[in-house]
Amino acid sequence: MKNLKECLFYEKKEEGKVRCTLCPHYCLIKNGGIGFCNARYNDSGVLYSKNYGIISSCGVDPIEKKPLWRFFPGSKILSIGSFGCNLKCAYCQNYSISQDCREGVYAAPEDIVDMAKNLSENIGIAFTYNEPAIWYEFVLDTAKLNKQTGRKNVLVTNGYINKEPLEKLLPYIDAMNIDLKGFDDSFYQEMCRGRLQPVLDTILLCAGHCHIEITTLVVTDKIDNMQTIEAIAQWISKIDQKIPLHLSRYFPNYHYDRAPTDIKFMKKAKNIGEKYLKYVYLGNI
Ligand code: SF4
Repeated sequence: MKNLKECLFYEKKEEGKVRCTLCPHYCLIKNGGIGFCNARYNDSGVLYSKNYGIISSCGVDPIEKKPLWRFFPGSKILSIGSFGCNLKCAYCQNYSISQDCREGVYAAPEDIVDMAKNLSENIGIAFTYNEPAIWYEFVLDTAKLNKQTGRKNVLVTNGYINKEPLEKLLPYIDAMNIDLKGFDDSFYQEMCRGRLQPVLDTILLCAGHCHIEITTLVVTDKIDNMQTIEAIAQWISKIDQKIPLHLSRYFPNYHYDRAPTDIKFMKKAKNIGEKYLKYVYLGNI
């Protein structure tokens, strides 16, 4: 199968098992098994990317929709996504492709780069919709080719990736929107089945390499409190007060059915963020 590509980051273990080292889950996968992200598969002691070149969604979006508000404003970008995610957020706003979808159409990196070239006024390629970290090999191959044409590469990511693969990818990436879903490790564990610190490490590393903006979904009864918004804004400001923060309104989805975020709170949250940061934007309002 042309979309089965051997993974770049894993270790072979005893009895045909493998340890995936792409993200902080470090899944130990037995022969015939699949990783937590649903996108990496052990076939006879070799780890394969199941979603290499599989496109579940494709569109040309305004860059502001990523959201990136301070990176080539007013431009358009070819946006593609596959399936799978290495977090399992109870309130996932995009679960049909992050948690459920296994299908799409196949495209080689050359096909995507040609498409990007042939679209007028298109600045490049955004890897978005599902989590690009677990689409790693395809993103890396495509981003390298696209860079050669002088176009931009953008990642819209949860930031849940290990340092070594991230450092290998970063030279080809021009901008990122990184989710900072909360500021409490127990929130990450309970609501997303991940950890906070690896995301903070990703943000710190990327801030030194490319343009970054950060998004926080203001989940009702979890994130919609002043302490959390203030802690996030204050932490970002210590890296750089000019990093934009997008506070996005939550709507009930997937396994979480609390009411949408109160609009009055969203406005208060913007004011709190602006105590520390130069650019705070509200989304989904
Ligand atoms: S990328 Fe997927 S298989 Fe690899 S460690 Fe993360 S969740 Fe597990």
